[in-house]
Amino acid sequence: MIKDFDTIAAIATALGESGIAIIRISGSNALNIVSSIFRGVNDRIINDIRPYSMRYGHIIDVDTNEIIDEVLISYMKGPRSFTAEDCVEINCHGGYICTNKVLDAVLKAGARSAEPGEFTKRAFLNGRIDLSQAEAVMDIIVAKTELSQKSALAQSQGKISKEINELRQRLLEMIAHIEATVDYPEDDLEEATGESVSVELREVLQKIDSILSTANEGKILRDGLNMVIVGKPNVGKSSLLNSLVMENRAIVTDIPGTTRDVIEEYINFDGIPIKVIDTAGIRDTEDLVEQIGVEKSREKINESDLVVLILDLSRDLEDEDIEIIDMIRNKKHIVLLNKCDLDRKLSENCLEGLDNIIEISAKNGYGIDKLKASIKDMFFSGKINMSEVLLTNNRHKEAVYRAKERCLAALDTLQIGMSIDLASIDLRSAWMSLGEITGDTMEEDLIDKIFSEFCLGK
Ligand code: GDP
Repeated sequence: MIKDFDTIAAIATALGESGIAIIRISGSNALNIVSSIFRGVNDRIINDIRPYSMRYGHIIDVDTNEIIDEVLISYMKGPRSFTAEDCVEINCHGGYICTNKVLDAVLKAGARSAEPGEFTKRAFLNGRIDLSQAEAVMDIIVAKTELSQKSALAQSQGKISKEINELRQRLLEMIAHIEATVDYPEDDLEEATGESVSVELREVLQKIDSILSTANEGKILRDGLNMVIVGKPNVGKSSLLNSLVMENRAIVTDIPGTTRDVIEEYINFDGIPIKVIDTAGIRDTEDLVEQIGVEKSREKINESDLVVLILDLSRDLEDEDIEIIDMIRNKKHIVLLNKCDLDRKLSENCLEGLDNIIEISAKNGYGIDKLKASIKDMFFSGKINMSEVLLTNNRHKEAVYRAKERCLAALDTLQIGMSIDLASIDLRSAWMSLGEITGDTMEEDLIDKIFSEFCLGK
């Protein structure tokens, strides 16, 4: 059922100089509001617009009767719209001034300025999509590589929801069976026993584990792999970065809303988004040649998923190299022996115990393919299997973990021979935890928080 909310409006496109911008209006009053500020050709009104069609005309300032902009109006009638409410979109000219003037006219005519994520939130509250699908809509927008976008798209179409709903349904049936056995022992139905419930529970746990096993890959696909490149000055860090960035389209995202706008740059390695830590101005080599002290390296190493250490093959190791080598031993690492085009001076006995040692030449590109292959091996067991990646969102992962813990607790209860209805309490908690993923069992303020992290106009 569509709930009756007030009518909201926002600019749905990125503000800037562009051919068109779209102002999106959603709510039962959307068409009336737009019609009050719209003037069509030959004074044609817009109230009789056919759903899913467009109409040409002007937005006018009702106080002065002046034209604000030339526009196209489209109308999507609820429930067959993004929000499941009546939606009107005004295509006006892109550009800061006219887009904002059109939005102002819409607000003056009675719409409320939408909060970040409010359109998607309506789609959720109106039951058109579940919470994981709503989150995936945002993931599509911020996807860093084609592969990330593909996985977000699959989620927006309900891929994780389907698995989670099946699990929840099974848990519910188990709970019902236990309750029926306990409450109506005299009935003919087949009794749930500690043993029969354990068997089913093990199957559920197996499914949970298989979903969880995709979480690490999923997180990297969604958020990117945090990679830090370390090494002492002049080993070739900036040369490597520059050649990686040049070859692999880097994507820059601004993350506003923090005290200082953070700029993140991503390298696209065959679909794996790689975030190079702390490289504001990645192409500004001056910044990167910055002499990274040992302490700073330590900090960066701790923040990363993968450390790439570069050593210079044409010189022997110095104390500073050895200090860095010791720092990375317990992290996932790749050691690049750079400048393999020069005469070799480096003695390898200090490299004992290190994994993934690859010779490269940042200058001529030799060995870069091996570096890529090595990253894929380390994080995706060699190949990325899109059909299996389910969990990309940390929030979902935590909910699945909690469900797993509750299922394990239920299994314990059954194994020590306690009454089966005690186990059903844990099963119910597991069912609740899984429901947080789809938003079925979630507190309203937490839902608000999730949507508030969305962008405006979405
Ligand atoms: P950083 O201080 O670690 O960032 O090192 P740079 O990338 O600035 O490189 C230091 C010097 O080594 C520069 O003169 C590079 O041209 C040179 N260099 C980097 N990689 C190679 C390589 O593979 N072969 C050779 N011969 N020189 C390299």
